[in-house]
Amino acid sequence: MNYKAITPRVWHLEEDYRDYCTLVRGDKLAILWDTGQGKKDLRAFLEETLDTPYLVLNSHGHDDHIGGNHRFETVYANREDWYMLASYARVTTGEPPAYDVEELNPGMVFDLGGLHARVISLAGHTRGSVGLLLEEEGILLAGDALNPTLLMLGRESAPVSVLKETLAVVQGLPFDKLLASHYPTLQDKKIVRAHLNHLDCLRTEAPSHPGPYGPRICRSIHKESSVRSVIHIDRGLL
Ligand SMILES: [Zn+2]
Repeated sequence: MNYKAITPRVWHLEEDYRDYCTLVRGDKLAILWDTGQGKKDLRAFLEETLDTPYLVLNSHGHDDHIGGNHRFETVYANREDWYMLASYARVTTGEPPAYDVEELNPGMVFDLGGLHARVISLAGHTRGSVGLLLEEEGILLAGDALNPTLLMLGRESAPVSVLKETLAVVQGLPFDKLLASHYPTLQDKKIVRAHLNHLDCLRTEAPSHPGPYGPRICRSIHKESSVRSVIHIDRGLL
């Protein structure tokens, strides 16, 4: 397994090319944040690496974050995205998920031993997107919900009004850096403010030619100081 220690307790695991899962290690409990495409046997890796029990959490329900769920007995995910876990299992196996799914709700706190991980709503990219605030590390694990290029692509995404509330709350949280699922290194929190300001000047005219996500999706770009916020958004979410 190719991995990088972001801090001694936070390891970014490259499960597939530019597709990262994160392992958070406390003194008495660990968390695996996302299970990637399912190409690597993360369970075997955890069982070789850890000397504590662990929990498996999903940041949201997209395929490239839940693909390895089937290797585990229990996975925590936000209920709003459970239908994606079910449909992925149906497509890949013809059956409902073979593992148990537990609620992952904003406000839950996992005491890992010397490290507390608080679940935060990051509704926007998907309705059930959540983040994990690692309180003593000052790091937010953000899945895809705060990517500099933010995808809001259809019915699975929340309306813009919800995204705005999410970003306003996240802006006030006590962290400095965030770790996203498709970026190898820590990102600056400034992107949250940039996205929030971007929503006040979002360009929503129909694209002159269809982009990679089809004719309903607008692409809007906003720059402030050194930060570039790009939002691809389904016009139905406006
Ligand atoms: Zn996603």
